Amino acid sequence: MGFERFGKVSFAPFTKVSKFVDFLDEGKIKGTVCKKCSTFHFPPRGDCVSCPSSEIDWKEISGNCKLVTYTTIHSAPQGFEDDKPYTLAMVDLEEGGRALGWTEGLSEEDLKIGMALKLEIKKLPDERLTFVLKGQ
Ligand SMILES: [Zn+2]
Repeated sequence: MGFERFGKVSFAPFTKVSKFVDFLDEGKIKGTVCKKCSTFHFPPRGDCVSCPSSEIDWKEISGNCKLVTYTTIHSAPQGFEDDKPYTLAMVDLEEGGRALGWTEGLSEEDLKIGMALKLEIKKLPDERLTFVLKGQ
């Protein structure tokens, strides 16, 4: 199994970083670190954005993050029609990097820019995995 297990609807079945999903299965959220220049990437990347290296290590993150911005989707794309409305949030991770994810257990009124949130693994039907953003 590879990256096709990530998210409710998979748009990218093949990637250099499909081990990300295996780590989620083990209860770990990991980004990548460039072996040459130590740049941290989240979402994980197989190729460094700071230098020409493709040698990476995996680094577990805490999930601690701060809300940068959010939006509520009322007109959902294909595959998400039954979930609308839902709120997507962008967060800055404690370790660096940014994540975009669905909020869970939070209404739009609960969200304040800069507030602490937690990135957590969520198991979906059919052994699919994703992450969601919850309050701390
Ligand atoms: Zn690098």
